[in-house]
Amino acid sequence: MDNLVENLGTENLVIIGSGPAGYTAAIYAARANLQPLLITGFASGGIPGGQLMTTTFVENFPGFPDGVLGPDLMDLMKSQAVRWGTKLIESDVTSIKCIDKPFEITTLEGKIRSNAVIIATGASANRLGIINEELFWSKGISACAICDGATPQFRQAELAVVGGGDSACEEAVYLTKYGSKVNLIVRSNKLRASAAMIDRVNANNKIEIHWNTSVTEAIGTDWLENIRTIDLNSNQKDIKVKGLFYAIGHTPNTKFLANQIEIDNRGYVKCESGRPETSIEGIFAAGDVADAEWRQGVTAAGSGCMAALAAERWLSEKNLAKIIAREQPEPKKIVSSNKNEDEETNEDTFDFNSEWQKGSYALRKLYHESTKPILVIFSSPSCGPCHVLKPQLKRVINELNGQVQGIEIDIDKDQEIAKQAGINGTPTVQLFKDKLLKRQWKGVKQRSEFKDAIKSLI
Ligand code: NDP
Repeated sequence: MDNLVENLGTENLVIIGSGPAGYTAAIYAARANLQPLLITGFASGGIPGGQLMTTTFVENFPGFPDGVLGPDLMDLMKSQAVRWGTKLIESDVTSIKCIDKPFEITTLEGKIRSNAVIIATGASANRLGIINEELFWSKGISACAICDGATPQFRQAELAVVGGGDSACEEAVYLTKYGSKVNLIVRSNKLRASAAMIDRVNANNKIEIHWNTSVTEAIGTDWLENIRTIDLNSNQKDIKVKGLFYAIGHTPNTKFLANQIEIDNRGYVKCESGRPETSIEGIFAAGDVADAEWRQGVTAAGSGCMAALAAERWLSEKNLAKIIAREQPEPKKIVSSNKNEDEETNEDTFDFNSEWQKGSYALRKLYHESTKPILVIFSSPSCGPCHVLKPQLKRVINELNGQVQGIEIDIDKDQEIAKQAGINGTPTVQLFKDKLLKRQWKGVKQRSEFKDAIKSLI
């Protein structure tokens, strides 16, 4: 993946968004020899890979009888799209000009022209906007239980989840793995989650549901200690929790389309029912950005397929399709090279010169003995953003030709180290040199940020 948008001429098809809709559209368009360009998105609108990156097991995506981790499913879709010739750019789209053809798409890195466009930008997690939300954001309040649940502060602590949909139920159940009790705060008198999910909540004696209740305020000093709630009869109650997790739905990511394409009053791209065509000929929409009703991984993937087929048809009708012949009819198979990735480095496997190792043994050795900068990523097994960030960090380290060493710490396994390092969410990246902490980053950042900071220490 390259961040630099070179002068590519006019693309056949640009796909904006890297969730199941975007990658499925890319797979179909790439197999039609259109060599689509997919802009993954970066910071605005959530992380690359979309909402499945912040989910644990997806149990309803056909083809995975035992379920599949959301981030793993997205890695597979991405590999499949790339295998068939999709080009990827990791950037955010800031605007799109639809008046003239070809369409002009402005990204943070430059402008791209394309004959057809598929918008598959999905939706972003909503926030409640309660009193002190900003103050306690990442200090107890989080929009992603799956990413942050394993952090030390939440262990054996009382926690709360707000919402009544599948996300809220899934997160409440997930958090019982770490917390002593989970309060599920539901603003109405019913859950709207699927029956199977509701059964799991009901069967879990660590979850208490507070019906007809809303959260109004976060209270604490350095870290969240209490949430103030109010019920339908205006009774106020404080609940002592160290973690408050939002799962209150999503808003479609359509801001960058301002006044260019018809949007409905809830912010969704307007399409004819069940079809991918938007109000602009040659621009198609797929997935949650145009779907206020079904919003499933599999429906997003299905609509991505429809959008790609419609775009292909439209490009051929208009004689705009530039068919790009493949060198080989059957592209090379992707062989997974991640077999050893999960293995912790130990006394026998430790390599003083290795660019990337895993676990506390390697960290201790390099921290005390290495003269090079050390980049430590604190991750947790189901953290989607960690999936996004790890290959980026590996690439930075590789580009710096071994002048920096990387270590991954799974905070689930190495709780003590995570505690000592003051980690309160994943991914967190710390940069050390000569036993001193030089920089810390929380969440997914551009490669250039890490590279510049490391270079200043070399
Ligand atoms: P939903 O829109 O389904 O649910 C949002 C929930 O948040 C509702 O219960 C809603 O309450 C509540 N809510 C909204 N605003 C507020 C607020 N201001 N204060 C308090 N509560 C609020 O979103 P989800 O993210 O749960 O699910 C989105 C889609 O993804 C769904 O189609 C779902 O099925 C799917 N999904 C599937 C999963 C799986 O199969 N593994 C896992 C997660 C999601 P109310 O009901 O009163 O409107």
